[in-house]
Amino acid sequence: MILVFDNDETDYLAWVSAHKRDGYVMNIDRARSVKNYPMVHAADHGLVSSDKIGNFTTGDYIKLCSTSLDALENFSESMLRSSLTRCAHCFGSAA
Ligand SMILES: [Zn+2]
Repeated sequence: MILVFDNDETDYLAWVSAHKRDGYVMNIDRARSVKNYPMVHAADHGLVSSDKIGNFTTGDYIKLCSTSLDALENFSESMLRSSLTRCAHCFGSAA
């Protein structure tokens, strides 16, 4: 199952904090113009929930969340026609 968080910071941050151990967060820029995006992170990467950053689902980006990395990768390829980049910090540079 994939959850879409669009202009929904409260529910997004609640999901991330509930799934630090088993969740994945896919970051998509609305304009679909950022190189290497969409990108997927593990939910415990501070980059996707730090209160110093904010605007996770507002502004230029939306988030798709799942406990299944496969589900997000399949979505990216079938719906966005784009391979999903794995964050090097979360998955290691060899991924
Ligand atoms: Zn990451």
